[in-house]
Amino acid sequence: MSTTIPHWLSKQAELAPDQTAIELPDGYSITFNKLRQESQIYAKKLATLGVEKGAHIGILSENSLQMMIAIHALSYIGAVGVLLNIRLTASELNFQLKDADVSILLTSDTQQKRSDTLEVRTAVQLNEVEAFMESAVSLVEEIHLDDLFTIMYTSGTTGFPKGVMHTYGNHWWSAIGSALNLGVEKQDKWLAALPIFHVSGFSILIRSAVYGMPVYLLDKFHANIVHDAIMYKGVTTVSVVTVMLQQLLEKLGESEYPNTLRCMLLGGGPAPESLLLKAKEKHVPVFQSFGMTETASQIVTLSEKDALQKIGSAGKPLSPAQLKINRPDPDGVGEILVKGPMVTRGYFENEEATNKAIQDGWLATGDLGYVDKEGFLYVVERRTDLIISGGENIYPSEIESVLSALDGVREVGVTGKPDTVWGSKPIAFLVVHESITIEQVENYAREKLASYKVPVSFHFVNALPRNASNKLQRNKLLNLLD
Ligand code: ATP
Ligand code: MG
Repeated sequence: MSTTIPHWLSKQAELAPDQTAIELPDGYSITFNKLRQESQIYAKKLATLGVEKGAHIGILSENSLQMMIAIHALSYIGAVGVLLNIRLTASELNFQLKDADVSILLTSDTQQKRSDTLEVRTAVQLNEVEAFMESAVSLVEEIHLDDLFTIMYTSGTTGFPKGVMHTYGNHWWSAIGSALNLGVEKQDKWLAALPIFHVSGFSILIRSAVYGMPVYLLDKFHANIVHDAIMYKGVTTVSVVTVMLQQLLEKLGESEYPNTLRCMLLGGGPAPESLLLKAKEKHVPVFQSFGMTETASQIVTLSEKDALQKIGSAGKPLSPAQLKINRPDPDGVGEILVKGPMVTRGYFENEEATNKAIQDGWLATGDLGYVDKEGFLYVVERRTDLIISGGENIYPSEIESVLSALDGVREVGVTGKPDTVWGSKPIAFLVVHESITIEQVENYAREKLASYKVPVSFHFVNALPRNASNKLQRNKLLNLLD
């Protein structure tokens, strides 16, 4: 039988009714008691729309209070939320709507304009629901940890996005694992600027309900607002991806953050060492982490006490999680496998992909890495991005990291180009400031990299291919040559 717990939001409404649950930059805030009340009313209105237990309900919205309420409302009905990325094209969205079996789509006002192009039975604006009557349905009081709560698609960096199923238990254990590592402190306030439609943002909402912790909610990332919130609004924790950290450090300039900021949780992708060193210099408490949609956010995190001497590492698996390296090469590098109660049970109606990824509870992440003597994980590369050149393994991200430290270089993408002698050779694509030449880049590469790692050619381009999550798609780089 599945483990049950009291509904997490109802629980907080009882434990800490007057505690702030959500705070917005305009000064508006809502308590846990009020958030429960509004979410339950919203649930009864959604029931009038036909939302019922087990139904798959799409949500297409930038971050907003109303979106948070709608998500909690779905949990009060026992419906499944399918979180959709607003940056996707209509055809990409239509694929996901169909694949996830979405019957009703809830949209923000801005996204509603696109609903003509979307293939779904019913599309309703989140704020239109407010006007509905409340149905007399009984609401969920106990959460069954084995029940499905959300479906979120992977970013589609390496291929077609896959619909990851998350149970309540996956989200619960993700929040618990994070708390056991980062701790929960009385004054905590977690800033959410990452999209809630990704698990990195969504998990903040869950932590809020599970810990009774306020969330400082932004519609999306604005460096100025995040900076001010850290400086003046008592934000203690911020989840960021690499580009956000870059912008925040630029904004910070010569000053430093107040010591109310205790954690800048960095995830989602690799971070160049130069950036981590810069953050270290400015005493920004960066916690590197590794995770993916399939692990309901971070599963490996570098805790504060190790952050300084293990720069570049993603840390150790969280308390409830395990990690191993599959078939390591002589340098110890192999595929990272992870296991734990936050790991998905699979992809929605995709048994083939599920069986390929998960065996005996171990999820094959598709990422290569190694573990040092003290058990710290270093993520090296995605398996599919590895370049094997004359028997040597070459990691594009290492070359990218080196080249991106050269002044005048904005972005770098490296991939393998087929080569009749070597099998494959690295080739580099760069977005640069005008002042720099190919010769300069090439000389720099020769100075910093072993000769077999120096790209065979360098190409200046206007932009690198990125997916809707802004992740570099290395498998599309060679198309830039056409
Ligand atoms: P798809 O699975 O559809 O190709 P995706 O893997 O990019 O897309 P996400 O689940 O959003 O989809 O991203 C997880 C991936 O992000 C990880 O598998 C890994 O490649 C990368 N990643 C996350 N954290 C780190 C990190 N600390 N260092 C390097 N890469 C990371
Ligand atoms: Mg993936």
